[in-house]
Amino acid sequence: MININTDLLLERFLRYVRVETTANPTVDTYPSSPGQIELGRMLASELEEMGATAVEQDKHGLVWATIPSSDSAVRCPTILLNAHMDTSPDAPGKDVKPQVVEDYEGGDIPLKTGGRVITQADCPALANLLGHTLITTDGSTLLGGDDKAGVAIIMQTAEHLLRNPQLEHGEIRILFTCDEEIGRGANHIDLTKAAADAAYTLDGGGECIVEDENFSADHLVMTCAGINIHPSIGKGRMVNALRAVAFVLSALPEDNLSPETTDGMQGFVHPYLTNGTVESTRVEFLLRDFETSQLDAHETLLKSLAAEAETKYAGVKFEFERTKQYRNMGDALRSAPHIVQHAIAAHKQLGKTANRGSIRGGTDGALFSEMGLPTPNLSSGQHNLHSVTEFASLDQMTYAAEHLVALLQIWHRSSKDAAQ
Ligand SMILES: [Zn+2]
Repeated sequence: MININTDLLLERFLRYVRVETTANPTVDTYPSSPGQIELGRMLASELEEMGATAVEQDKHGLVWATIPSSDSAVRCPTILLNAHMDTSPDAPGKDVKPQVVEDYEGGDIPLKTGGRVITQADCPALANLLGHTLITTDGSTLLGGDDKAGVAIIMQTAEHLLRNPQLEHGEIRILFTCDEEIGRGANHIDLTKAAADAAYTLDGGGECIVEDENFSADHLVMTCAGINIHPSIGKGRMVNALRAVAFVLSALPEDNLSPETTDGMQGFVHPYLTNGTVESTRVEFLLRDFETSQLDAHETLLKSLAAEAETKYAGVKFEFERTKQYRNMGDALRSAPHIVQHAIAAHKQLGKTANRGSIRGGTDGALFSEMGLPTPNLSSGQHNLHSVTEFASLDQMTYAAEHLVALLQIWHRSSKDAAQ
């Protein structure tokens, strides 16, 4: 029986969500907003107070700490726990006024301002949350449970382990990152400093989901050079780059390979931005696929359509520039399957069934995995992310902390068994 202190967990969470930590993609500073430094300072002092060691808010604003191993006799892998302190710029994050709904009775949840309602129709997961304590906003901001639920869960787990020295575990590293929401979460991370063998991000929705795959992602810029001349004398002389690009875009498959027509494990080629003239037209694409090698196939498809356009509109010239974004964490996790297996086993030990999940996007964990630290993503009770209807389940957050304690004990036990 793992007795996480739910009251303290709630207090923590309410304290953290009140700090405005909205990431700002329009500035180059790191972190991109001062609230991330403020929250980091709060977390570092709470970690000091609870007795964590090597507590540091580094010059980039990242917060590091260590929970020492409870058992120096066993050589146990060091596990890093990670969550991000920033919140999404997709919805306001200033003056968050969290509302606690105790013993949720079912049905829609009207929010105090703006006439917004959390509806069951929009969030079918609500049906499974009867009796839970839910935390919503007043309807004017997001909540920031993404990812302060993860932050609070890790903090409460740390305190639980420090207060219960009889619980066996290896060394635990804690890392709270900045600017994950704007893709800069791993920009200033030195993994040699983490000195961990495996990691978990606490940044997933709902409960009992172990996400061990995410898209591999590249960005591709296609430019088409045409030949311009005054339209009055264009006959036989003008070659319009806009028409050639339109040909390529309209030749892309309509019933698959697009975000509008795919889900689950299907990838896509997504044109999302264009500007152009007769002389030069540029299109930006997102290439996405769970199978990393398929990104090459997506580029090949675009190049073959461009070659057709070059034949049809003789005189145009296409060029491509592809930039790597992030990779499927599954590529790294497949070679260390026990990291996911332990997470699944911990759910089983607590009497629940884990669901494997895949993310149609990237996480800090994907970046860590690629840097050599395999990092699946775990549920943290978040719902309706990046929206003023965002909410979190305190019951699911409590369970996530229990799961972490069980998981860290499984790592210890398996090391002990292996040593015998
Ligand atoms: Zn997140």
